[in-house]
Amino acid sequence: MTPRVLSALLDRAVESGNLDQGDLLTLLGLTNIDDIRLLLKAADIVREREVGDEVHIRGLIEFSNYCRKTCSYCGLRSGNIHVKRYRMTPDEIVDLAISLDDRGIRTAVLQSGEDPWFSGCTLAEVVREIKAKTDMAVTLSVGERSREDYALWHEAGADRYLLRHETINSQLFDAMQTKSTIHHRLQCIEYLKELGYQVGIGFMVGLPGQTNEDLAADLLFVKDLQPDMLGIGPFIPSPDTPLGDQPGGTLEMSLKCVALGRIVTRNALIPATTAMGTIDEYGREKALEAGANVVMPNYTPLGRRENYTIYPNKRCIGEDPDLCHGCLTARILGLGRKISTGRGDSPKKQTVSSTCEHGLN
Ligand code: SAM
Ligand code: SF4
Repeated sequence: MTPRVLSALLDRAVESGNLDQGDLLTLLGLTNIDDIRLLLKAADIVREREVGDEVHIRGLIEFSNYCRKTCSYCGLRSGNIHVKRYRMTPDEIVDLAISLDDRGIRTAVLQSGEDPWFSGCTLAEVVREIKAKTDMAVTLSVGERSREDYALWHEAGADRYLLRHETINSQLFDAMQTKSTIHHRLQCIEYLKELGYQVGIGFMVGLPGQTNEDLAADLLFVKDLQPDMLGIGPFIPSPDTPLGDQPGGTLEMSLKCVALGRIVTRNALIPATTAMGTIDEYGREKALEAGANVVMPNYTPLGRRENYTIYPNKRCIGEDPDLCHGCLTARILGLGRKISTGRGDSPKKQTVSSTCEHGLN
């Protein structure tokens, strides 16, 4: 590709984001480092224009590592006897969220394996308590559940939900042994949208067998759905899983996907994922300079977080949460960016506040 053709393509990407499959394949296929830099720069321009310099901080609470699913990429998969399982109590989760609120963090992200111990009612009560005792936005990321559960949690005040589609290629999805199908996953995403959540989807980069055509299809799906949030990160092989001896995704391809995700969604909330920071010391900073505008420092208590082993060598696994927060803040400011003090709701949608008052017990 000549510099002129690339420059014209990137100008169009910046101005409209209207990239088709051929454009995406061209950009995903860039190999020259200077060309890749131009792509990342184009995404950074879109980020700056569409959502400004603020970076939103979400406090991540990994409250249970029990999981009924068997996703072959994930260390928490059911049956992995090498995982020491833990489950925080509802009171512990609420107290931790309150302590994040006290530190000025405006969003609590409650994430777990698919743990049926947390029934619809139990988790709704946790959400309700957090909403009653803080001004925080609550994001849930607890996998595929019934429409009734999603509705209950939204009525209890949950604002956002993260459910990555993982890969839109149904054969690849099936090969991942998730005990689900892409059809069902998309159904869940549809429920969440209908119910009024701010919805996050996303995908892993570098899954075994994944091609650039697959990634282009993921990006076209993202462009079509226009999610409020978009999580993209490299696949990292996890020991004691069926994919444990496979190669992982690269930082370069992951950054290209983050950049293209920014270009096609324009103003979505895009995290610089922990997985990026895990495969490269400065992976999160690089993602922030390629279109990302969210970070999710981990506030799971020490003694627990070491066991939330979706993949090995997770970034900041042994760090004191306060040090982690300070370190991340310094890194963001070092990039010339600002720390958001607001809730960081989706620019694509105003928050629908809860009006439901019925009790759950
Ligand atoms: N159980 C919920 C779910 O699956 O949606 C939430 C927790 S799950 C650990 C969150 C995300 O971790 C998944 O959506 C998946 O993309 C990512 N993940 C799992 N295993 C991974 C791996 N080995 N490498 C990179 N990301 C991984
Ligand atoms: Fe469970 Fe989520 Fe891991 Fe799948 S990705 S095994 S659902 S924690």
